[in-house]
Amino acid sequence: MAQDSPTSAPVTLHELRTRLREAGAGPLHEHRILRLWSNALPRESGRRLPSTFFPASLLAAMPDIEAQLASLASIHTVEKAEDGSERLLIALNDGQTVESVLLPRGGLCVSSQVGCAVGCRFCMTGRDGLLRQVGSAEIVAQVALARARRSVRKIVFMGMGEPAHNLDNVIEAIELLGTAGGIGHKNLVFSTVGDPRVFDRLLQASVRPALAVSLHTTKIDLRAELLPRAARLTPEQLVDAAERYARTTGYPIQYQWTLLDGVNDGNDEIEGLVSLLSGKYGVLNLIPFNVVADTPYGRPSWERCRQMAAQLHRRGILTKLRNSAGQDVEGGCGQLRARATQAGEL
Ligand code: SF4
Repeated sequence: MAQDSPTSAPVTLHELRTRLREAGAGPLHEHRILRLWSNALPRESGRRLPSTFFPASLLAAMPDIEAQLASLASIHTVEKAEDGSERLLIALNDGQTVESVLLPRGGLCVSSQVGCAVGCRFCMTGRDGLLRQVGSAEIVAQVALARARRSVRKIVFMGMGEPAHNLDNVIEAIELLGTAGGIGHKNLVFSTVGDPRVFDRLLQASVRPALAVSLHTTKIDLRAELLPRAARLTPEQLVDAAERYARTTGYPIQYQWTLLDGVNDGNDEIEGLVSLLSGKYGVLNLIPFNVVADTPYGRPSWERCRQMAAQLHRRGILTKLRNSAGQDVEGGCGQLRARATQAGEL
């Protein structure tokens, strides 16, 4: 193996697998190395067990490969919240940064893009547009860094970026995490604003994740205003496509609804939700907005959020009222990165 510098770290799993094969790895060696890395386990001696015997060329290359994997991503800062969540600002090899959040009860939220092209009005990440894609190996590196801190049993693609706009990398990462990474398939959650390409591609994947769909409103005009560059699907088209996915996979859809004071928390939206989601295989997550500086949006009172959840529940819509994890460390997506940039740390 050539003495590569850290800048040549493989940002995709395809590149990483190619390097391993060039170094003499067979499928079992490859699986073992990817399993140890993605689970943040210490490497054992490859020579001890006959079934995992590493060829001499691979053993010789391993220090180099491990250095490259370690150079993919590192933790820049950690902010801890009272609920036990930890927001990690992750520095990638080229100096860009993304956020990962360790959630209570073994969850991890990872980022799939640096920035985002969707430009949701209430999101800090969307403000600067898309800066670059996050490679599949960089996604797995976020998991490895998190697992070095604590156990991770569920991974949600709800950090920075729209996974549907980086499908190849996200699917490649999901396929690894659902196999060598040891995460149950329904505990891999692909979160999307809704893109027609997503539903078919995910069904073809060898590891099918669960799906979270950002709905936010039942009104087509308001949706276009709040999510200006999301695919132009009506809420009905979106729910129809999601319902087909749910029935095929057997995983209920998580419909995401960021509650914005006076915008989408009215009785008209309750009526819209009842007609849109009645009988559908899914759960509605109401998430009170985590206030971001310089946005016109506010957080509804907890009482209003509770009333809305209770009314929906009474009308037959399975509804959960969530508190955004990590809120007391400025838990909104992209805020930690934005603050570090403003402070000149990046
Ligand atoms: Fe992108 Fe998600 Fe932010 Fe919308 S909420 S701009 S999809 S990162």
